Amino acid sequence: MNGNSAFEAKIMEMKEQKKISLELLDYILHSATEEERETLYRIARETSQAVFGKNVYLRGLIEFTNYCRNDCFYCGIRAGNRNVSRYRLSPEEILQCCDKGAELGFRTFVLQGGEDPYYSDDRICEIVRAIKKKHPDHAITLSIGEKSYESYKRYFEAGAERYLLRHETANEEHYALLHPASLSGAHRKQCLRDLKKIGYQVGCGIMVGTPHQTTEHIYEDILFMQDLMPHMIGIGPFLAHKDTPFRDEPDGSAEETISLLAILRILFPKVLLPATTALGTADSLGREKGILAGANVIMPNLSPSNVRDKYLLYDGKICTGEEAAECNSCLRARMAKIGYTVVDVRGDHPDFSSAETAGNNVTKPTEEGIS
Ligand code: SF4
Repeated sequence: MNGNSAFEAKIMEMKEQKKISLELLDYILHSATEEERETLYRIARETSQAVFGKNVYLRGLIEFTNYCRNDCFYCGIRAGNRNVSRYRLSPEEILQCCDKGAELGFRTFVLQGGEDPYYSDDRICEIVRAIKKKHPDHAITLSIGEKSYESYKRYFEAGAERYLLRHETANEEHYALLHPASLSGAHRKQCLRDLKKIGYQVGCGIMVGTPHQTTEHIYEDILFMQDLMPHMIGIGPFLAHKDTPFRDEPDGSAEETISLLAILRILFPKVLLPATTALGTADSLGREKGILAGANVIMPNLSPSNVRDKYLLYDGKICTGEEAAECNSCLRARMAKIGYTVVDVRGDHPDFSSAETAGNNVTKPTEEGIS
């Protein structure tokens, strides 16, 4: 590329047309200079601030079961891992996590778990209804894997409003290299379409740097997202877990993940974009850098501290020893340090909410860097 101004012109064109070429994607991920990456991050940051101000939304993550019937090759809690100490939280324990989260200012609870048949549709609906009864103003996000249309509909009618289901990769051959034959990318995509049809705010996503991933795969992911138009996109670096078939694979890069976050922000100005815990694991300032590259959500853990080190999808996960209150104040301080404010609102996608409930009108955009 011919200098930073030519690069900036390319990024502005991408912003205007909401399109990226495979060549530009490849250049950004693998060849951009530091100065060019800073330009990309600045444009992504401005794009995010134009919609969300300098507000960061919190999602309280409750990892309520680490049982899973599946065997995804990259996942530390896969069924085949005999070294995991398995646990399930009772409905009462889940409610206690929500009560604690509500006290701390959280307005969204994310119930995440493996695909655990113990949690029948009836059980999930009961839990959702109990949380809604006690915390009617709070949003409930489910992240419990692939289910039937009817099951998703039942959870929605019980009060769940958002659903996270990373599609992992839009490319079928790549999908087959990451998952056992019992799982298919086509079914996963169908689940996402079902969720959207029912009316959920839907999140898809990938890991950056999974084994066998190419730039063409990431390009396909972007095209898939542009077709699906999700409300949330969760991406983080691939991080290997010692008890999986990918134990010896190299970790994904934090820098590439941050560049992809910035690209996604520019292509999807209104999308909810977390700076993930995996990013904070790959780089101790990863979440801050993610926010400064256009992300606008962080997802601290609300799970009881005695089970946190049992929900390890990858090695080295941060924040497994802290109590919820410690994570909460640590993250608020980290965001304040880069000039952002954690806002205690539900933080719906802008198409689902007034500016007031989303908390979009609190602070004004200005330039910031990590101090
Ligand atoms: S990635 Fe999800 S579905 Fe796959 S094994 Fe892990 S918890 Fe189960």
